Amino acid sequence: MPLRFDILTTFPEMFAHEPPAALGLSIPSRARAAGLVEWHATNIRDFAENKHSKTDDRPFGGGPGMVMMCQPLWDAVHAVEARDPRPATRILLSPQGVPLKQKLVEELATKPRILLIAGHYEGLDERVIEKLAPMEISLGDYVLSGGELGAMVLMDAIIRKLPGALGHEDSSVEDSFSARGPSAQPLLDCPHYTKPREWMGLSVPEILLSGDHGKIAQWRLDRMLERTRARRPDLLQPPSE
Ligand code: SAM
Repeated sequence: MPLRFDILTTFPEMFAHEPPAALGLSIPSRARAAGLVEWHATNIRDFAENKHSKTDDRPFGGGPGMVMMCQPLWDAVHAVEARDPRPATRILLSPQGVPLKQKLVEELATKPRILLIAGHYEGLDERVIEKLAPMEISLGDYVLSGGELGAMVLMDAIIRKLPGALGHEDSSVEDSFSARGPSAQPLLDCPHYTKPREWMGLSVPEILLSGDHGKIAQWRLDRMLERTRARRPDLLQPPSE
């Protein structure tokens, strides 16, 4: 069965299936056509019980901005979850969540169903977060205007880890963070080259033209280690407990 994503948002049109929508192109679109993944965007507004279908209101205590109300989101989550019997992993995109790393992407790629909640304005009323108890995931230490772009980034990263999503089955195992060093540490990818052999006075490393697959694999691993040491030495540290 395809991995099912449900996105709860006030901008469902951002998740259109056709180009120029971001996920309507390239690998996500092909994975969807191949039956590996499906996604459904639901407008939280459709569940608002108030007169003007409002999903947000002014914050108690004053201050700028608006806060997303509990009721529309709570009802939306339960209605959407009931559309498929498989249990959904609830995820709230939030700058206060755990920073997204490839290991977590790989874990999520094994789930049957993922429900993504995209916040807006000042974020959600804290009580609905408490009651829904989603996993909170951050794209990084910066603030986006809404959770939709974060949801798309997360979806794209998960989709490319689904078996069969990439042209070649092994294409993602040497990607940065998936590639593993001698002690199974995550590594950055090695440099890549294609035609022509010479370009603006720069040559492709001779070893890559040798046809010796053993030596090429060793050269690539050496470059991965070298790059990781130079650019991301933190990846080579043993994980802290
Ligand atoms: N007031 C919130 C705070 O400072 O923690 C920021 C709210 S932000 C303007 C609106 C929404 O964008 C959030 O509810 C979240 O869904 C999304 N968002 C913003 N930055 C994000 C990040 N770094 N990672 C994931 N989601 C983010």
